Amino acid sequence: MINGSCLCGKVKFHITGDPFSLSYCHCSRCRKVAGVFSAVLIGKAEDLHLDQGADVITRFKAADDAKFERCFCKECGTSLGDLATGDVYVVAASALDDDPKIRPSVHIHTESKPDWYEIDDRLQKFTGDYIPPDTPHA
Ligand SMILES: [Zn+2]
Ligand SMILES: [Zn+2]
Repeated sequence: MINGSCLCGKVKFHITGDPFSLSYCHCSRCRKVAGVFSAVLIGKAEDLHLDQGADVITRFKAADDAKFERCFCKECGTSLGDLATGDVYVVAASALDDDPKIRPSVHIHTESKPDWYEIDDRLQKFTGDYIPPDTPHA
C-alpha cells in the first residue's frame, strides 16, 4: 500500500496494487502546477482510494484542453494530480508519503521545459507525450 497526503493533512489517500508508470512531465502546465516539472504516477483507477478530504479538493480544468485537469488542496495548495480519470489514476508523486517502489522511466514534453532547467540523467526523453505500451489511455 502506498500512502499519500497533502501538506496540511486534510487530504489523505492510498494506492493498492502496482502502478503502471512513473514519469516526469515537463509540459508548461505541469511546470506551473507542480514546480519545475511533475513526477506523475499512473495506475489503475480502482486502485486509488481517497480516505479523507474530498471536501477540500478543488479541480482545475484547462480552458483550452478538456483533457488537462489537476486537483489540489484548497487549504494548502498541494498539487495532487488528476486523480481518477477514466480507467487510470494520475497522482502527483510529490504527494506520496511512501516509496511507490517504481522508478521514473521517462521525461515527457521536454520541449516545454524552461531553458534554465537542464535534464542530466540517462532516462529516455520525449519532446511530446509518451504513453508506456501497457498503460490504458486516460
Ligand atoms: Zn491540504
Ligand atoms: Zn504535464
